Amino acid sequence: MCPSSAGPGDGADALFGLDALDAAPSTGGDAAGAGGRPAFRDSPAARRLLPVRHIYAEPAAAASPRGRQILARYPDAAVTEVHSHWRIPELHGNEGNVERWVRVKGETLILGEKKTLATRPNGRSADWIAPGPSNGCAMACAYCYVPRRKGYANPVTVFTNIEAIIAQLRRHVLRQGAKREPNQCDDSAWVYDIGENGDCSVDALICDNTADLVRSFRQWPTAKASFATKFVNPDLLDLDPRGRTRVRFSLMPEADSRLLDLRTSAVEERIAAAADFLDAGYEVHFNLSPVVLRPGWKEAWGELLRHLDDVLPERVRRQAAAEVIMLTHNQALHEVNLGWHPRAEDVLWQPGLQEEKRSQNGAVNVRYGLGVKSAAVGSLRSLVAEHAPWLRVRYAF
Ligand code: SF4
Repeated sequence: MCPSSAGPGDGADALFGLDALDAAPSTGGDAAGAGGRPAFRDSPAARRLLPVRHIYAEPAAAASPRGRQILARYPDAAVTEVHSHWRIPELHGNEGNVERWVRVKGETLILGEKKTLATRPNGRSADWIAPGPSNGCAMACAYCYVPRRKGYANPVTVFTNIEAIIAQLRRHVLRQGAKREPNQCDDSAWVYDIGENGDCSVDALICDNTADLVRSFRQWPTAKASFATKFVNPDLLDLDPRGRTRVRFSLMPEADSRLLDLRTSAVEERIAAAADFLDAGYEVHFNLSPVVLRPGWKEAWGELLRHLDDVLPERVRRQAAAEVIMLTHNQALHEVNLGWHPRAEDVLWQPGLQEEKRSQNGAVNVRYGLGVKSAAVGSLRSLVAEHAPWLRVRYAF
């Protein structure tokens, strides 16, 4: 049981009893498969995405209950002890890994402890960015910003101290109290993005971190978890989120996705999963992102929106909303991509349309110039209004 910093008399306890916040993470066994079906994460398809052969582990992470579960799950993997999940020279960085980059993402796992347990304000997609349960991803989208801080050969790092992450969140939820004003994130719940630096659906192939978070949020009536995903993991259907987790399926035209979204579920599969996730108790939204400007982009997005209008059942449309996010790219990522997937750069790198923006850590990011971007956002909003008028755009930038 994790302590709470919300003391008597601060008003937060009045919202719901502290014993209703029993968010103890699962300590063993498979959360998946509770619906009676075999767990997807044990299937050949899941093993193909994550044929883990090598695990780098901080000693404390390996010794933790979550770490031991993960090591037991991959008994044939070689294990190397590392001082810090941030510094694994033979793994991180860009040089020497370009050819192996995609393979590394599936064959390698890292176990670490999340040291900085901070919940940061956001205000766009979510009210708050939660301390995430992972960093890195087994998929390999060519535009992905997630690997930048570790170099691009960045497989999943699982944070094994999930109890501490949940305890920090619980304290934060209690401190916030009820949300008094609707905003673009949600009308009545404080929304916490739990997947800023990875994909929670993929994390759920490895361990119960995602399940533990979903189960915690269902006990917090003033809060809601949210994560974007490009992977359909049927095991999540058994977690009984009771409306307290928002799944945002990321969508883009099929042709762009085939070129740019490597190792992900097909866009059609993500769309087809929407009703199943809604029926399983999730709120289902869509991320129309990233929007990549290339010849024919408006026709392609129009087609995608008409397809959504054709196939999504009324119950999905009624509660759906969307975020529209224009592509942001990065010079160093551009150079890495030229080494392994140059065709992606034909559409991602468009100096005639893009301008530089140096980030706080000195990285050179590029984004569409202001005029180009605002015209494109306007066009996409018009396409939504024309082809899928039921789809509320929560925000676009
Ligand atoms: S699924 Fe998300 S986190 Fe994973 S590589 Fe693609 S954009 Fe990055």
